[in-house]
Amino acid sequence: MSTYPIVSLKRGKDKLLQRKHPWIFSGAVWQKPNDLQDGTVVHVATDQGKVVGTGHYSPGSIMIRLLSFEETLLDETFWLQRLQQAYNVRSNLNLTDSPDTNAFRLVHGEGDGLPGLIIDIYNGNAVVQVHSAGMELAANDIATALQQIKGLKLSSIYLSYADDREGQLLKGEASNAMVQEHGHNFWVDWATGQKTGFFLDQRDNRALLAKYATGKDVLNTFSYSGGFSVYALNAGAKLVHSVDSSAKAIGWAKKNVELNNIPGNKHKTVVSDVNQYLKDCPDFDIVILDPPAYAKHLSARHKAVQGYKRLNVAGMKRVKPGGLLFTFSCSQVVDRELFYNTVVASAIESNRNFRVLHHLSQPPDHPVNIFHPEGSYLKGLVLQVE
Ligand code: SAH
Repeated sequence: MSTYPIVSLKRGKDKLLQRKHPWIFSGAVWQKPNDLQDGTVVHVATDQGKVVGTGHYSPGSIMIRLLSFEETLLDETFWLQRLQQAYNVRSNLNLTDSPDTNAFRLVHGEGDGLPGLIIDIYNGNAVVQVHSAGMELAANDIATALQQIKGLKLSSIYLSYADDREGQLLKGEASNAMVQEHGHNFWVDWATGQKTGFFLDQRDNRALLAKYATGKDVLNTFSYSGGFSVYALNAGAKLVHSVDSSAKAIGWAKKNVELNNIPGNKHKTVVSDVNQYLKDCPDFDIVILDPPAYAKHLSARHKAVQGYKRLNVAGMKRVKPGGLLFTFSCSQVVDRELFYNTVVASAIESNRNFRVLHHLSQPPDHPVNIFHPEGSYLKGLVLQVE
């Protein structure tokens, strides 16, 4: 008798599992119990009944998110082993205990063999974000395991949801903290902020901006809490404009500039739609475009690409001759090649000449499982305008 309900695959479909992609689509499923609830832990079996994986069931097109490619019990030992492994991987890379950075991603979904789970650590506070019913049901087990990770000291654990539901504290009291990233100070508010409160994925790209920002005018669009702005100003930028449609985000951007003892007159904040703002703003030495994911599903890809194209044309027009454009996409379904081609299309339309200086991506605490290329979601380019 197996521990969990069995979902069996159509004949031959178990071959797909040899490729170690952690998703099983509904089209591959042959038989399953009728009353399976969203989030149930299931074993996956061949049509002959041999168990070939364990994962979370959900009724959508991605029917099972696999947590292992064998018959596994998802008990306390399982969670602790997985989370400890995620911690060890990062600690080996010196990402957990650096003297100037105390915020990092501990778990990056499929990249850590845990589809549907994100955990960010902010100066000893864990923010657990669940993206599936299965992970939501496991939240308490995850919180228990988190507190046993060797090397990690936590003062609070906050559970946050991918939808609009309000999150909840599972341990401790904190709903915000001051963190350091490459020596820059940031106020992170995970209870009322976007995603887990801060965009750790841009850490290395912000550091790259700092290298070029000294003495420059910088336009940081979709600024959120001013990550790029603070790096540019600390690097000696002449002036930075932070633009975001969220007044709350702009409030944090202001606060973060203050926390770094930067004179307020070097930072201008604007609450505005970026497309609107770009229509008649001045030109800058460096323009950053870091919009939210325009496509959350494959069906939205075409429209998203048009959105990226329009945005990049507008942004390109605002770069002074010799200046730089930092442009990003975090849509999983817009892959690197498509994003690049879209930016090329924008360059043609903008009627200016560009050199490609850097291809950017996400940092190593956001690793990509080699069998799950979709995990490589953040792409960026740095272009120099002639
Ligand atoms: N670059 C940021 C992260 C950007 S997240 C960082 O490094 O932290 C995307 C931001 O875009 C969010 O803050 C959101 O409020 C803002 N946003 C979304 N649509 C917008 C629009 N049309 N105009 C201006 N800002 C927008």
